[in-house]
Amino acid sequence: MHAALNGSPAKSCKGKAAMRVFTYTSAHARILFGAGRAADLADEVRLLGCRRALVVTTPEQRDLGESLVAVLGNLAAAYFDGATMHTPVEVTDRAMDKLRNSDVDCLIAAGGGSAVGLSKALAARTGLPQIAIPTTYAGSEVTPILGETQGGRKTTRRAPEILPRVVIYDVDLTLSLPASLSASSGLNAIAHAVEALYAKDRNPIASLIAEDGIRALGGSLLEIAKNPRDLDARAEAQYGAWLCGTCLGTVGMALHHKICHVLGGTFDLPHALTHSVVLPYVLAYNAHAASGAVAGVARALSSGPEPWQHLYQMLERLGLPTSLRALGMPADKLDVTADLVLQQAYWNPRPVERESLLRLLGAAYEGVPPSPDMSF
Ligand code: NAD
Repeated sequence: MHAALNGSPAKSCKGKAAMRVFTYTSAHARILFGAGRAADLADEVRLLGCRRALVVTTPEQRDLGESLVAVLGNLAAAYFDGATMHTPVEVTDRAMDKLRNSDVDCLIAAGGGSAVGLSKALAARTGLPQIAIPTTYAGSEVTPILGETQGGRKTTRRAPEILPRVVIYDVDLTLSLPASLSASSGLNAIAHAVEALYAKDRNPIASLIAEDGIRALGGSLLEIAKNPRDLDARAEAQYGAWLCGTCLGTVGMALHHKICHVLGGTFDLPHALTHSVVLPYVLAYNAHAASGAVAGVARALSSGPEPWQHLYQMLERLGLPTSLRALGMPADKLDVTADLVLQQAYWNPRPVERESLLRLLGAAYEGVPPSPDMSF
């Protein structure tokens, strides 16, 4: 046998060549980007070969849902406005009744991760194609991942049919996103890219995408805080959200996402704000084990060598809460959180031990400025 075919590639090369061993799988989605693109919705439904769409939104975005139903005309078969955070299975069951009664052949999600989550849950049960029209920066629209909640526990799964086939990024639809939601949603997106930079299965494409996503959001979120109707900043933030969401869909996440899933699913903490608060602490926790990723985050944020401090200061500059306590986390639940994080723990660049995890959670609970020297 040829020597090159004898043994695993990672073992057979050394130095820089060993760092260049990776697997890259690209997701297949059609992306429409730009102001006014939601007007293309009916054409996209027809391009999928569909004629009977179910539109889903949250109750708060009923106006948007009704406008899209009007744009679709006789391509709209039904409308469901009951989507809610963390995709409870009971809500999906109610939407399934509507879907079955209306002979639906495609799904349209308009809104943030909650609307997209419901559409994905319906797609996972039916295999129907989806079009997503995201209006936050959460990034769910470009991932084949579904998180669902049942009985106070959040479980996640990946499957090709969960990935929306078409995504329409229309910046006009983000102008109404309140400044505080814009800020937390954008930091949620940044968290995807930060963890992509130190993911176990990181690769050069995902890392390029991650750095540019962090750069785009790092600047634009501060501009949006000053003027939420700044169309250029909104377009830049939406571009960053697409990139960061793409990272989430491409490589595996680590400790940060595991902690946030536990906190969201178990204590119903607000999803994006939880990500915003926890991220600086996890980055500091991983600093020594993931120095290349830290350098990438620092480059992207133009922040100096300790980007966790920049992320923590961004919370303050964006007027967001800086502690889990401020989000309503019960003081006596740090232990149970640590236990749940360690159950089926995600891979992390630095091994996660209970005592250091408890110190990390305690610091995030109190909101003290993070540092890798906090003896996490
Ligand atoms: P969200 O979808 O719950 O939206 C928050 C609120 O803002 C809702 O009331 C919504 O109606 C409103 N809103 C959204 N866009 C608006 C706009 N442009 N103008 C005015 N109001 C607007 O919040 P989110 O942070 O986007 O999503 C959170 C959910 O998404 C969680 O359930 C989370 O688990 C999930 N998520 C999943 C993935 C994935 O890949 N599976 C990725 C990220 C988030």
